[in-house]
Amino acid sequence: MSTHSLNDRETKQAASCASAGHDHSRYRRQDIYDEAATETIAGHVAGILPLLDEDPAREGLFKTPARVARSLQFLTQGYGMDPEAILKSALFEEDYSEMILVKEIEIFSLCEHHLLPFHGRAHVAYIPDGKIVGLSKIPRVVEVFARRLQVQERLTLQIRDVLSDVLKPLGVAVVIEAIHLCMMMRGAEKQNAVTTTSAMSGEFMKTPTRAEFMRLINKD
Ligand code: ZN
Repeated sequence: MSTHSLNDRETKQAASCASAGHDHSRYRRQDIYDEAATETIAGHVAGILPLLDEDPAREGLFKTPARVARSLQFLTQGYGMDPEAILKSALFEEDYSEMILVKEIEIFSLCEHHLLPFHGRAHVAYIPDGKIVGLSKIPRVVEVFARRLQVQERLTLQIRDVLSDVLKPLGVAVVIEAIHLCMMMRGAEKQNAVTTTSAMSGEFMKTPTRAEFMRLINKD
């Protein structure tokens, strides 16, 4: 099977080349904070510090509650974004019916059990059935789901499912490899444990296609 494969950086370059045409929405960093939410969250954080035997009034911590409040809003900004709309904004009719793979997409997320980070890489492939999506939309959709409180398993499924629902492709494959700070810093204290999750559908349930995908992401 001939394959169209790009890593994330190449995808961004491709998107940038396409920007003269139709795709202007590469990574758009959102630094928009709700002032009321910032104030309320900061108040709670300020309440936590003395319980950790810290002095919230000392110089280094003085602005920490507000910083944490903005940081948490940034890291969970995916709640305010609609991944379906992102995909639908760049759908194109195309006869191409080979595998399209975007690999090595960096992910940063927060585990919902400890609010500690997990981070790693996502590899996303699909086989179109008449419709393709602008390549930069795939990392964006990954980002929208990652910027929420998550477990890696659900993150993997959500990416597969939104691509299936919107593109109605012949198949979708998602593999995520991540390390979890909650495992590394506390609990098991396993420093090098990489957690791998995968979700497949359609053609990728068939052994040859799945094997081709795994080979392309160097997991065979
Ligand atoms: Zn955790």
